[in-house]
Amino acid sequence: MRQRAASGQFGDFKASALYCPRCKRAMPVRSRLLLILPDGELHEYLCQACASSLGTKTVRQAQESQLFMP
Ligand SMILES: [Zn+2]
Repeated sequence: MRQRAASGQFGDFKASALYCPRCKRAMPVRSRLLLILPDGELHEYLCQACASSLGTKTVRQAQESQLFMP
């Protein structure tokens, strides 16, 4: 079974605009790779105008065919 964890701050949606507290409105964002995790990547979203960090998101790798059985 595929585990669709809703643990990420933004779930599964593709963030193209997020509310920026500094700009006081929804701003286009750019994503930055923060960390490579064993099961995915951690991305950070930055406001394109002021470069404030607006949040992070874990992108899990879809490796359904490679199940590791201990
Ligand atoms: Zn901003």
